[in-house]
Amino acid sequence: MTDLQEAWADLLRRRPAFRDTLAIYGDVLERWARWSPPRPLALSPSPAAWRAAWDSGTPLAAEAARVLRAADVEDLVGAAMDALARVEPSLGPALQRFAEAWDGGAVGPTALLPERGRIGAGSDVAGLGADAIAFLAGASLRPALEALYGPAREHLGEGVWSLGVCPFCGGPPGFTDVVEDGRRRLACHLCGGAWLFAKLRCPFCGVDGAAHLARLTPDEAREEGYVISACRECRGYMKEVDRRARWNAGPALVEDWGSPHFDLIAHRQGYWRPIPSIVQLAR
Ligand SMILES: [Zn+2]
Ligand SMILES: [Zn+2]
Repeated sequence: MTDLQEAWADLLRRRPAFRDTLAIYGDVLERWARWSPPRPLALSPSPAAWRAAWDSGTPLAAEAARVLRAADVEDLVGAAMDALARVEPSLGPALQRFAEAWDGGAVGPTALLPERGRIGAGSDVAGLGADAIAFLAGASLRPALEALYGPAREHLGEGVWSLGVCPFCGGPPGFTDVVEDGRRRLACHLCGGAWLFAKLRCPFCGVDGAAHLARLTPDEAREEGYVISACRECRGYMKEVDRRARWNAGPALVEDWGSPHFDLIAHRQGYWRPIPSIVQLAR
C-alpha cells in the first residue's frame, strides 16, 4: 500500500458516509500504486537552470510537454477515463472519441498538461469539456509528474516563488494547508508539489487583501480546522485545513478528495475550482 492509499483508508474510516460516493478515488489510487514508468522520465536541465526559471517567474512546465509521450501515461489515462465514465455515464460517447483520438495520435499528454494555470488549453478536446479534461488530468498525471518533478523539489528555496501556479508543473493549486507556523502552503495535485503562498492573496486572479476573500463554510457544515476560502472577484475557491487544529489530517490530495460536501457548498454558491470534484461532474 502506498502512503496515499493508507491515508485514503484512514480518511474513509473518519468519514464512512462517503465510502460509496468516493469509491472511484480508491480505484484511482490503486492504479497509481501499480504504475511504474515504462522508461526513465527525467528533467534535463541542471538545478541552476531550474532556479533561473523560478527567478524569472517561469514554472518548469515545458519539461513535461517535452518529456512525456502518450505511451508513458496511457495506462494512467485509461484508468482515469474508466473512473470518469463511472462518475458520469453520459460522457461515454465523448470518452470514446477521446480514446480514439489518443490511439490515433491526434491527442496526447499535452491535452492534459497545465497551461497558464488551467488544464490543457482550457477548451474542448474531442468533445470533452474543460471540466472533464481537468478531472482526467487530476486522476491520471500524478505518478508520472511526481516521478519527473520530484528531484526538483528540494531545489526550490524559500521565498523564491510567489505565484499562484505550481512552480514545478505549472498546475493550479488544488488545496491549501495552513502549516505549523501559520503560513499558507498550496498543494498541486498534478505533481504533488507544494509551495508557500501569501496568506490573503487569491492564487487564481492575484487580488490581495481580506476584503476580497469570503469564507463559505455555513454553520451546519462547520468542522474544526476546515474552511472553504473563496475569492469574491474571480469566484475561485479552495478548501483548506489548518494542521494546527487537525493534527491527524492526511495529505492535501486525500483531504481534498475526501471532503466533497464542501465542494457542493461552494458549487451551489456559484464558485468554481480548476479541477472539479466528482460531485461537481456528476449530473
Ligand atoms: Zn505541480
Ligand atoms: Zn480571485
